[in-house]
Amino acid sequence: MARIAFIGLGNMGLPMARNLTAAGHEVSGFDVSTAAMAAFRAAGGAAAGGAAECLAGAEAVVAMLPEGRHVREVFGGTVIPNAPAGALLVDCSTIDVDSARAVAAQAEAAGFDMVDAPVSGGVGGAEAGTLTFMVGGSAGAFARARPVLEGMGRTIVHTGAAGTGQVAKICNNMILGSTMAVVCESFAMGEKLGVDPQTLFDIVSTSSGQCWAITTYCPVPGPVATAPSSRDYRPGFTAAMMAKDLRLAQGAARSAGQNARVGALASAMFDEFLGEDGAAELDCSAIYRKIAADRGA
Ligand code: NAD
Repeated sequence: MARIAFIGLGNMGLPMARNLTAAGHEVSGFDVSTAAMAAFRAAGGAAAGGAAECLAGAEAVVAMLPEGRHVREVFGGTVIPNAPAGALLVDCSTIDVDSARAVAAQAEAAGFDMVDAPVSGGVGGAEAGTLTFMVGGSAGAFARARPVLEGMGRTIVHTGAAGTGQVAKICNNMILGSTMAVVCESFAMGEKLGVDPQTLFDIVSTSSGQCWAITTYCPVPGPVATAPSSRDYRPGFTAAMMAKDLRLAQGAARSAGQNARVGALASAMFDEFLGEDGAAELDCSAIYRKIAADRGA
């Protein structure tokens, strides 16, 4: 069992830190938000007085931060200069590939093993300890990270060199965003032409159009009782996060020299949806309401 510094105790980080403690690790937590620190303390966590205190004696540092700039700032500005020699660095945030690679190179130059280990499974998976981790880094760093990640997840996959965890994550989410948009269009079109959404669901969920955006996250209220659409689009996975990941995917496509036109269209659709009042905080499947109302030219 290890002494772990956990930085970023938000919607995902708090339950992940809690599961590491439950797995027997000694976890010290830090977040710039006083509300997040209060929630961590209320959950029985050992709240550090600052980032430096959090890092003291750490054998592993795990971060769950919003975006690439936070990861550059936290790892580049605080963790790499101050973490104990030999500590394993693990970034679980979903960020751009370039930031992930830049921070990993900085860590390597300072003698640290580091992995990018973004997750899929959302807040529910974080709470249940069933996350999937996509892990980029050397074989040695992956071997060291596995026992830490096992405290928070069920499926742990080594994707290759530093940054490839982020690549796998945004490929997945480009598929999710694109299929969600076209599922919304199909259900809206079907209903306008006289096919009841439940009937369409029964057919498509067992036909070649079947996908996660239908069987787990059906955007039309009713057919899937546990989907966000059936609880007034409370997230789940917010539209803001979907839009962020689709933008990251476009950036990655550009840097790879790969045209990703379907992903680009989905990205533009979610960005447009975010312009509506309150949309950012709704589940991403709430884009169904906008698409269904869109009559075209
Ligand atoms: P969140 O905003 O709830 O939590 C992020 C936390 O980081 C906040 O509490 C914030 O105060 C803290 N933070 C920001 N800058 C900091 C700094 N300099 N030092 C310390 N703490 C700092 O976000 P979240 O939902 O927990 O998501 C975190 C990451 O996980 C994101 O990259 C997101 O894309 C990814 N993700 C989220 C989900 C989901 O369903 N929520 C699913 C998969 C992946």
